[in-house]
Amino acid sequence: MSDITITNLRKSFGPVDVLKGIDLQIKSGEFVVFVGPSGCGKSTLLRSIAGLEAVTSGSIAIDGQVVNDMPPSQRRIAMVFQTYALYPHMTVAENMAYALRIAKMPKAARDSAVAAAAETLHLGPYLQRKPKDLSGGQRQRVAIGRAIVRNPKVFLFDEPLSNLDAALRLKMRIEISRLGASLPDTTMIYVTHDQVEAMTMADRIVVLKDGEVQQVGTPMELYNAPQSLFVAQFIGSPK
Ligand code: ADP
Ligand code: MG
Repeated sequence: MSDITITNLRKSFGPVDVLKGIDLQIKSGEFVVFVGPSGCGKSTLLRSIAGLEAVTSGSIAIDGQVVNDMPPSQRRIAMVFQTYALYPHMTVAENMAYALRIAKMPKAARDSAVAAAAETLHLGPYLQRKPKDLSGGQRQRVAIGRAIVRNPKVFLFDEPLSNLDAALRLKMRIEISRLGASLPDTTMIYVTHDQVEAMTMADRIVVLKDGEVQQVGTPMELYNAPQSLFVAQFIGSPK
């Protein structure tokens, strides 16, 4: 289980209120997309869930337990960013096993975790290569693989595809959707400013604007019944 309840969450940087009272319920295993224009607070919200940002007030609970004061390493959350640094001197397999090695997981268990992730991500043929000998999409898959091996309860993606070209973005979009479907107990939260990504990947979309939730719903609900002109225009529905 890995449901998330966010209650009246506020975050300010100095005098600037970035998150202005976010209320949100995310069900275990759901694929939720946070979408909204640049600067609306998507990354701040994601980083708060990961524990990388201390919130100003309000609460975040995972499986009913408030995690506001829990360090990131204990939240069973993995995060994949737009920019990802693989260790250039290590092979793909070593990159993926690195966090497990640091956590002192025995080699046999590490190897089987890496093999399972490599199968999910179609990285089997590349395990002994170095990052410089991979394509952009393969590197991004290794970055996702490093997160998967840790068996997270919650998977957070912050615009993971925005540095890739259009064709590769489409391919990876499908792969990440498949990944979500293949991990039915893992809650996925995916941040993007791209409406098409949101509409095609999400079980539910959360539309954010200026640090507030504008509307939450399935892609069809938002398309058919946008509750504001902003949502209609952003989603592209004919209101
Ligand atoms: P998004 O990911 O939706 O583009 P962000 O969450 O990155 O938006 O940023 C929301 C707002 O918070 C922006 O105005 C940004 O400048 C501000 N902000 C984000 N991080 C910081 C920080 N560490 N210090 C000051 N302001 C920040
Ligand atoms: Mg961002």
